[in-house]
Amino acid sequence: MSIYDKYETVIGLETHVQLATKSKAFCGDAIEFGASPNTHISAISLAYPGTLPKVNHQQIEFAIRLGLALGSEINLENRFDRKNYFYADLPKGYQITQDRLPICVGGALKIRVKGKEKSIRIHHIHMEEDAGKSIHDLDAKHSMIDLNRAGTPLLEVVSEPDLRSEEEVDAFMTTMRQLVRYLEISDGNMEQASLRCDCNVSVRLKGASEYGQRCEIKNLNSMRFARKAIQYERKRQIDLIESGGEVQQNTLNFDPVTGKTSPLRSKENAHDYRYFPEPDLPPVVVSEQQVEQIKNALPPLPNELFETFTQTFKLSEYDTNILLEEKNSALYFVALVQATPHKKAAANLMINKILPYLNEERKSIQEFPIDTAQLAALIELIQSDQVSNSIAYQQLFPELLKQPDIAPLKLAEQLNLLQSNDDDFLQDLITQILEQHPDKVKAYQKGKKGLIGFFMGDLMKKSKGKANPKEAKKLLAARLEN
Ligand code: ADP
Ligand code: MG
Repeated sequence: MSIYDKYETVIGLETHVQLATKSKAFCGDAIEFGASPNTHISAISLAYPGTLPKVNHQQIEFAIRLGLALGSEINLENRFDRKNYFYADLPKGYQITQDRLPICVGGALKIRVKGKEKSIRIHHIHMEEDAGKSIHDLDAKHSMIDLNRAGTPLLEVVSEPDLRSEEEVDAFMTTMRQLVRYLEISDGNMEQASLRCDCNVSVRLKGASEYGQRCEIKNLNSMRFARKAIQYERKRQIDLIESGGEVQQNTLNFDPVTGKTSPLRSKENAHDYRYFPEPDLPPVVVSEQQVEQIKNALPPLPNELFETFTQTFKLSEYDTNILLEEKNSALYFVALVQATPHKKAAANLMINKILPYLNEERKSIQEFPIDTAQLAALIELIQSDQVSNSIAYQQLFPELLKQPDIAPLKLAEQLNLLQSNDDDFLQDLITQILEQHPDKVKAYQKGKKGLIGFFMGDLMKKSKGKANPKEAKKLLAARLEN
């Protein structure tokens, strides 16, 4: 057993969700990723003297949506605080955030790792604003500042230290991304940093009851980097402890090029920030009725749909996860399943034909031309052996995309795709084939039974896929035995 196996990793996440609101958190400036630098910067974003913030009601609603989805308590009266610090991309010299009285408290996110479900407790969710962007690599002598992002509304979701591996962190972030997309509160895009996290990592001997000293790795916006950062940090901390040292509570930066973490600053304490209630904003007051309204308008959530798909529709977890990836196609599937009793066949069609089609065409399910009743009719043709599965997938489905309003049965007739159970048609084909291959017939009759595969292949080819394989094989075997 290596020394590393004696330790357990403990991780708590502070996840930042950039909200898809129309305007910034405290003023009317637009939010636009990739906009020309410093083009969405009113006097408020620039913190000119005498300007005042006002709350964005969409930010409050989005926070409550996420809180309800995670089963948090909603604080009907909550408030904003000032977090003071100096940095060039923070024009006000403070960030408006929530410290003492955040909007949501408690709750949990259910994740699934290797088929096992685990509940990660949420400590709280608070609202805040983002800072601007400092760019250090454009000019050798100067740092550049882009303040477009300054004042963008964020939610910070703080988890309890319930995660134990980088796989669980990956599952947490992926599940969170799916959730915020279902709730339509964020695009959840990690590459554009709409979703990013700070990872608090510590190690302790397995079986220990106290947590070890932690370090916080800042601003990870790719799951690959987060995994690497945690692996590196775990090893670093264990090596330090095993050689008689102690972990210092630092804030760390992860460098993807070297794969190493390095101290950014020693851990600051709350009092360093001189938090105090934001004097320019009134407390946020929400009514029970508002919360009720938001609750009633929530979409079906991925974990509820997961239960339905696996328990009621009896689909595998693997298929379910593919079907649930995107909300609108998941809801299309729910509608499809209401139109056909063949749930597994519907899942197959969705996974093997419809989703790949949407992917290739870069279309959303809303642009998909075939309605669920038509697809149900197509599935019925397959299930009743009127059209073979491969003909349905390779010929009828593409044709239906072009003519989505014609009944699949009619289309199959027009294109001559109906499978033939017609005895005369099959017997004629079999006669032809047996006459063409007298040697093989003899070989078969002497015991080379494997040749049935050869005859079947030829038969399917000659019938252009229209022979019903079950029926054809029965007739073929009977003729060969004679
Ligand atoms: P602070 O107030 O100093 O920021 P918090 O208690 O708010 O500390 O914790 C911040 C984050 O650190 C939370 O996500 C929490 O789960 C995590 N955390 C706290 N203690 C540990 C620990 N020993 N190991 C790993 N993560 C931890
Ligand atoms: Mg904290």
